[in-house]
Amino acid sequence: MTLQPERHILVVFPHPDDEAFSSAGTIRLFRNMGVPVTYACLTLGEMGRNLGNPPFATRESLPEIRRNELIAACEAMGIEDLRMMGLRDKTVEFEDDEKMVKLVTDLINELNPSLIITFYPGYAVHPDHEATARAVIEAVRRMEKEKRPRIYAVAFANNTMAKLGVPPIVHDVSSVKEDKVAALRAHHSQTAWMMAETNHRAEEGKPMSDSWFNVESYYLYTFDD
Ligand SMILES: [Zn+2]
Repeated sequence: MTLQPERHILVVFPHPDDEAFSSAGTIRLFRNMGVPVTYACLTLGEMGRNLGNPPFATRESLPEIRRNELIAACEAMGIEDLRMMGLRDKTVEFEDDEKMVKLVTDLINELNPSLIITFYPGYAVHPDHEATARAVIEAVRRMEKEKRPRIYAVAFANNTMAKLGVPPIVHDVSSVKEDKVAALRAHHSQTAWMMAETNHRAEEGKPMSDSWFNVESYYLYTFDD
């Protein structure tokens, strides 16, 4: 489907790399249209288990590494407004609900986005993802109906298709595949293994399914009232 221009897009995810896996192509396409995109990344993923073998990072150096990776990924996606929100990785689920909702509400009030991209609550797998999605949905639910931005929700739990059906929003991002790959590569500490596997399989003539480099899909989150 063809992307329509947006006033402003707010992307909210808890971990550096969530945005690249789910939305790098979509973000790049919107940026190429001149749409302003703000990425609020809630943590620095500093509790990531992957310190490398041999280790490329220590527990102390990982946040700085991931901060720099995130900045590089944003360059690949064309994001000029990156907000590092300073929450702690793996503790987002324990944050006070109202504090989380306020964080999102403040961003909405400042930026007046017409579209928000985040996870779909109930289908986001990781507790930090779920907590992020719940806060975004609650912040938008509290708005006047006419003023609510649309929500593109990323769902990837195993039961997603069974429960939610086929995603209605499907973006062909093949024209910006190189930017998506560059964004993924920028998150080197998290994605190096995957990129190595991709190359390895290509060399053996059994490339991995190309679809997730070429297609990004979303559900439109809707409210009952
Ligand atoms: Zn994540």
